[in-house]
Amino acid sequence: MSEIRTEAPPAASVDGIAAELRAAVDRGVTRPRAYREQQLEGLVRMLLQHASEWEAALKADLGKSEIEAHLTEIGYVVAEARAARRSLRRWMAPTRVAAPLALQPATARTVAEPLGATLIIAPWNYPLHLALAPLIGAIAAGDAAVVKPSELAPATSRLLARLAPEHLDPRSVRVVEGAVDETTALLEQRWDLIFYTGNGTVARVVAAAAAKHLTPTVLELGGKSPVYVHRSADIAAAARRIAWGKWINAGQTCVAPDHIRVDREVADELVEQLRRATAEQLGDARTSPDFARIVNGRHLERLRGLLGSGSVVTGGEVDADARYIAPTILTDVAEDAPVMQEEIFGPILPVLPVDGVDGFIETMSGRDKPLALYVFARDRDAVRRVERETSSGGLGINIAVAHVGAAGLPFGGVGESGSGAYHGRHSFEVFSHRKAVLSKPTAVDTLRVIYPPFTELRGRI
Ligand code: NAD
Repeated sequence: MSEIRTEAPPAASVDGIAAELRAAVDRGVTRPRAYREQQLEGLVRMLLQHASEWEAALKADLGKSEIEAHLTEIGYVVAEARAARRSLRRWMAPTRVAAPLALQPATARTVAEPLGATLIIAPWNYPLHLALAPLIGAIAAGDAAVVKPSELAPATSRLLARLAPEHLDPRSVRVVEGAVDETTALLEQRWDLIFYTGNGTVARVVAAAAAKHLTPTVLELGGKSPVYVHRSADIAAAARRIAWGKWINAGQTCVAPDHIRVDREVADELVEQLRRATAEQLGDARTSPDFARIVNGRHLERLRGLLGSGSVVTGGEVDADARYIAPTILTDVAEDAPVMQEEIFGPILPVLPVDGVDGFIETMSGRDKPLALYVFARDRDAVRRVERETSSGGLGINIAVAHVGAAGLPFGGVGESGSGAYHGRHSFEVFSHRKAVLSKPTAVDTLRVIYPPFTELRGRI
């Protein structure tokens, strides 16, 4: 149990929950740095003291191995919370900016203040990480928050709802479980920020609800994140890194390589190396403890429908009872095939040939801007052109997925892949209001010249 005082019990219903939490922020409950630090420590304790329960929940929801659970969820969030705890004094300090000459003598600074009551709506694919990483930002910024975990990862959702009140102060942090009805009830209330992670269709529902109250939103969405493999790439290394980024969590990763476009002359070599890397990393994926499962039957059937696009090089097996789809590489995929029409979000990897950098850049024009884009090349000019001539939330050069874990880099999308970014200091900033403060002493009134009547200015402007 945390040492934090817990006066108010969690509300039985969600009615008035936003106003209740906002009142706690207004009363100054969340303002002291020590309070925020204790909450971050409580969050870390909640994960570490119950690590085996979190592992079991992630195994039940998605068949994640303990190692993967630590790499991408538990360990990631612990490191992020500890870094925030360490950095909080620096983040909270006012930032001095130069006051313009015309206003001198004066000082100017920005002061970060809490936004108030925030709503965090999380998806199922990294159900712990994507519920708690935004919460770290909310706590650091001095906000109160409701976390609404995904109903599609019920074991993790239940565990979070049970443990949060034991380790986090319910005056400022609540977990509300539920699906569309509960989320709709929450969205009807007035929030000071809504942080939504999930798909673009629901994001529009969220944005419309937010607009009613002029509430700002952060939308962390997805899309078809492409990989471009240039003929100059180290093909074997590219294959290993792409395979890792694609097969982790069985492809149910928002920044997973969705499909590959490869220079025609090295396409066969890449496909062979991908096949080899997949076998090396997972062996028989069905019995590998390191290969996750599809979240539910509906997603499994959706993915089964995509397997008919093109020819299967490796994989293709489906076991609905075990929620298993084999890591599958597809070639001969038509541009208008179903697998190229929607975000795949599963262990299916189409490989399409392309004619050089121009050909790749051409495929990007007129399309939605993806959450991530990956280029594998040793040719610097090819890399430079992809960096300059394409737009995406993030760009990985000779690496896939790992930019998400690079402390200091903002994580977020652009256009259809979302708006707003977080991680590290960016989380603190996105959950804060930067108040502009100008302070001017009254002893000497240098502004007299701009007060009417403009006698001195007349004829000089
Ligand atoms: P999901 O089905 O779990 O939905 C996300 C959340 O929205 C859930 O909490 C759910 O309860 C809520 N929700 C669903 N329907 C709703 C409605 N009608 N009204 C209000 N709330 C509703 O997850 P998902 O959307 O299937 O997640 C997968 C998508 O999320 C993919 O597109 C993926 O790329 C994207 N994603 C993005 C990120 C990122 O950080 N940018 C991370 C993970 C996933």
